[in-house]
Amino acid sequence: MTLKITNISKTYPNGVQALKNITLTIPNGMYGLLGPNGAGKSTLMRILATLQEPDEGSVYLGDIDVVNQKDEVRKTLGYLPQEFGVYPKVSAESLLDYFAILKGITTRGARKEIVEALLRQTNLWDVRKQKLGGYSGGMRQRFGVAVALLGNPKLMIVDEPTAGLDPAERVRFLNLLSELGENSVVLLSTHIVEDVSELCTHMAIINKGEILHEAEPLKAMEKLTGRIWRRIIQKSALSQLEREHKIISTKLLGGRTVIHVYSEEEPAGFDKVQPDLEDVYFTTMAGYYRQETKQEPKEK
Ligand code: ADP
Ligand code: MG
Repeated sequence: MTLKITNISKTYPNGVQALKNITLTIPNGMYGLLGPNGAGKSTLMRILATLQEPDEGSVYLGDIDVVNQKDEVRKTLGYLPQEFGVYPKVSAESLLDYFAILKGITTRGARKEIVEALLRQTNLWDVRKQKLGGYSGGMRQRFGVAVALLGNPKLMIVDEPTAGLDPAERVRFLNLLSELGENSVVLLSTHIVEDVSELCTHMAIINKGEILHEAEPLKAMEKLTGRIWRRIIQKSALSQLEREHKIISTKLLGGRTVIHVYSEEEPAGFDKVQPDLEDVYFTTMAGYYRQETKQEPKEK
């Protein structure tokens, strides 16, 4: 199954153009949609989840026309919104059972089996009797995944699921997601580069409603080899260096300032670094990454 998004645009009534002519082909497996706050990720995901209409363009999940055959999509869709409420006084087991009924799993025995399997898969079995109001952020997100997985979706959409999780919860959550990708399209949006580098075989970088870069993370990192350079500097030297180099990122490391610059030739006084996905992200956001072309990178 492939999700094919063609020329999608969306402008909100207040005039904000949230999506500008988005075209993406999303294969089976884990796909990362990476971009800063306000990039348009949630807008795109709500359109794919049939909760919002695009102004223009089409979306196909296999043969299903997502914009016009909403009921068909919903049968095979799992959606974990960026923010969702739970009924705080109900246990995970009861609420999941209830959602399973809504999904049409009406046979009691079948439902019991499915609910148990999902609670085990999301590692909530031991806490299934606890009220959802007492769940931690990570537990709540895993419960959201259990709900989204009801009915074996072929399209799974998870919007910023790791925001707000502590490091241990985040790892547990990413492990859970990594098991899902094989037989379905799993689309994950995030502003955290590591979510994508740890999980996704394909990705797109989105900013201000536009796709800046569509790539396989490993290949994108490879393409940058020899072009990313690093130097530890005094903070006071930063503005001077900014004038001389294409700085893509500035970070603090143990109280010192580390800069990465983009350059096709070795700049004096810098060390070569093996590019990681963060370098790909910042190079793209700065406008220096030009995929598939030998075009000169745009001057700042
Ligand atoms: P992201 O999920 O990447 O943070 P969003 O899709 O939520 O981005 O938002 C994209 C842009 O659209 C932002 O400028 C945001 O303020 C705007 N926006 C989102 N939802 C609405 C809405 N319902 N009405 C008006 N503007 C909106
Ligand atoms: Mg969002």
